[in-house]
Amino acid sequence: MDIPRIFTITESAHRIHNPFTPDKYATLGAALRMEKGTRILDLGSGSGEMLCTWARDHGITGTGVDLSPLFTEQAKLRAVELGVADKVKFIHADAAGYVSAEKVGVAACIGATWIGGGVAGTIELLARSLRPGGIILIGEPYWRQLPPTEEVAKGCEGCAIADFLILPELIASFGRLGYDVVEMVLADQHGWDRYEAAKWLTMRRWLDTNPGDEMAKEVRDKLTADPALYAAYTREYLGWGVFALMKR
Ligand code: SAH
Repeated sequence: MDIPRIFTITESAHRIHNPFTPDKYATLGAALRMEKGTRILDLGSGSGEMLCTWARDHGITGTGVDLSPLFTEQAKLRAVELGVADKVKFIHADAAGYVSAEKVGVAACIGATWIGGGVAGTIELLARSLRPGGIILIGEPYWRQLPPTEEVAKGCEGCAIADFLILPELIASFGRLGYDVVEMVLADQHGWDRYEAAKWLTMRRWLDTNPGDEMAKEVRDKLTADPALYAAYTREYLGWGVFALMKR
């Protein structure tokens, strides 16, 4: 059970697999005013940076579920490195349908809402693990500016205009699902650079050490095309943020 190999090649050196930087996760962790001992469930926990740093900085406990064995292993190592291995647990599994045995105070899905079949389905899934009065965290892209054509949307990693909303519409959509948006922290273009540009050096180094790999041509083509494509499209058109929601 694993995610497509292209992600573990391009993001093997990432600690955060989205356009958030460490300071954004720190800002969000503080903004949520969590009590020590708050239990967190994180579906699509990646390399575990959110849970590990929040366990260190806010004394939370948490469980992360992720489909990538590599990222899950990296998350466990990070927990040891930060001295929080007794506070956070990382499970290698498909998070689709995952409901925690004990209710949590914060239920998160940060940049992986396909797990619940989209934003609405993921909120429903997370709500099943949430204690009354708890907070749901959704990390999701939005259009910074609406692409004028489908061609432009496609330049953003093959997206379609209909894949995302503009920010006010995304926020309004949470209201229509019956949730208050009680906090939000937005990524910026510098954060996008950290997420996307960090892949380029990883790809280049991987190509230099794996020239005969069956994926070498795909990775080479990607490294050749991505930097200019990214600067023209994703960097200009795509926003990304984490939204904190409470049931009305
Ligand atoms: N939340 C993390 C990772 C976001 S990237 C962070 O902030 O860094 C999306 C993550 O979803 C990847 O780690 C990928 O392995 C994971 N993923 C993809 N499909 C999944 C599934 N069905 N179940 C659990 N995790 C999944």
